[in-house]
Amino acid sequence: MADAHFPQPQSCEQARQLLIDAGRILEASGQGDLTRGHISVRVPGDPTHFYMKPHSHGFDEMTHENIVICNLDGEKVGGGGRRHSEVYIHSEIYKVRPDVMSVIHAHPTHAVALSATGRPLRPISQPGVTFRDGVPVYTGTIELIRSQAMGAGVAQALGPHKAVLLRNHGVAVVGRGVEESTILAILLENACQIQLLADAAGGKGEEFDAATIERLYETITKPEQFIINFEYLRRRYAGAR
Ligand SMILES: [Zn+2]
Repeated sequence: MADAHFPQPQSCEQARQLLIDAGRILEASGQGDLTRGHISVRVPGDPTHFYMKPHSHGFDEMTHENIVICNLDGEKVGGGGRRHSEVYIHSEIYKVRPDVMSVIHAHPTHAVALSATGRPLRPISQPGVTFRDGVPVYTGTIELIRSQAMGAGVAQALGPHKAVLLRNHGVAVVGRGVEESTILAILLENACQIQLLADAAGGKGEEFDAATIERLYETITKPEQFIINFEYLRRRYAGAR
């Protein structure tokens, strides 16, 4: 069920446009990996279906015509493009997380590197605090998530969290809307990069006290923070005015 506090697209066209613009933002923000990686959003008014980036295209190449429509079994039921074989990351998360309206899977360098260290992400930066409730790690396989069972494993590892690292492979990030999943994906990569740099420099990685972290968390995870930052990147990279 959509979060009443998070704005939702009012039409199917608006939902697809959000996806298209988010794709341009993600590519410009370094989340692209050739044509790999994908983003999806539930169809407005129909939580059993979702729009998803097509196979064989970069994040920045989505159009209203090539976006794929899938159901919660991961089957393509509409849209012009080819379906990604890793569709099950999306369908299985949507099945068990009614609060999730958008899912992103990508292979950002620093998140993959941190996942390969076996060390947990820690709240030692502002983006890190965004994930102060933890980012679990899916350790099932380094291969593509090409079955419902594997997708269910990723969804189980994710649990109630905002993101899950797929060890030595990538990330799955979820949001109450496309704006949130997109900004969270960027913040997660930033948090991983800072932690790796701090660790590599031999820093102690000291944390602030729990109450301070909690106060900052409340401020930076308000819905308007995600909208404001998404709209900024939309103006910058997606030609929105
Ligand atoms: Zn992948």
